Amino acid sequence: MNAATQDTSSSILVIYTGGTIGMRDSDRGLVAAGDFDSRMAAALASLPPDRRRRLPEYIVWESPDPIDSSSATPDDWAVLAALIADRYQDYAGFVVLHGTDTLAWCASSLAFQLQGLSKPVIVSGAQKPLESENSDALVNLEAALAFAAQTALREVCVSFGGRLLRGCRARKWYTADALGFESPNWPLLGEMVDHSPIVYTPRCWPARGAPRFELAGGDAAVVIRLVLWPGIRAKDVARWLDDDSQRGVVIECWGSGNLPEDEALLGVLARACAEGKVMVAVSQCPVGGVSPGTYASGQTLNEIGILSGDDMTPEAAHSKLAHLLAQDLSPGDLRQRLLTSLVGESGAFTA
Ligand code: ASP
Repeated sequence: MNAATQDTSSSILVIYTGGTIGMRDSDRGLVAAGDFDSRMAAALASLPPDRRRRLPEYIVWESPDPIDSSSATPDDWAVLAALIADRYQDYAGFVVLHGTDTLAWCASSLAFQLQGLSKPVIVSGAQKPLESENSDALVNLEAALAFAAQTALREVCVSFGGRLLRGCRARKWYTADALGFESPNWPLLGEMVDHSPIVYTPRCWPARGAPRFELAGGDAAVVIRLVLWPGIRAKDVARWLDDDSQRGVVIECWGSGNLPEDEALLGVLARACAEGKVMVAVSQCPVGGVSPGTYASGQTLNEIGILSGDDMTPEAAHSKLAHLLAQDLSPGDLRQRLLTSLVGESGAFTA
């Protein structure tokens, strides 16, 4: 039977996009490589029989053009979301294998595109290629498949280093450590314990009606990521913001949402807001969020009209803004949806 005639409703669809997990050596270093289906099967066959038996059935969809995710764009995320949406009814869950560099961006974008999921979409990858010595790829594949079969999961997650993180809360934290990712503002959704998946259900996104897919990765070029640094000059910021094609700005402020008290800089930001650019503030601190008004210098955010991004990661804030700008929303609706946690991307966890 081929995939088209097979009953796959209890199977996992594994979507391979590239990344280190499938890379091979070249004379210029690691490069994205194909033939992933048979390589994955060979790797999983090397697991001890009891672990092999616990794996769910799966089918691999391989990108014809696997990439290093440092070249990924929102168009790639839109293709991925459409692929999952097209096959949504046919599978019990989905695994997306992706390079780690932009994996958190992809996971955030998928979360905003695939709202109202009733099954898991697990994004994973590896710090070392599948066939390399001491690779984390095999255990990550095993964990991703195991989590993708968990019916309690109804969201986009990142599975990496034996841990399960909310996708829109994850950040690449380590360049080489097998843990790979952290989720500084939301606790782990699950863990692999003795090679079996444990899901911490109270921390997971609850069932919320039917899927409401909004398939648009957004145009990343219309949203600027503006990271403050001491001494930042108004005229440099103005050069970016005076471009009419820019529609949104994620501004990474100090601490709990503070801006420099520089009249010229504040004037440039205020003018951009007044012209209709949507500005969202997040913190440069990885843990915690912005709470404008704690300091006088933070009060400025409200006065200028910059919206609070609460404790969103910069990746989530950027992909959310790009995603919402791609919808046909009135300014009021856009503002309201930005300030609402749509898929669990913001807001403190209370046990
Ligand atoms: N540069 C690689 C990528 O993002 C890194 C990785 O996958 O770990 O595709």
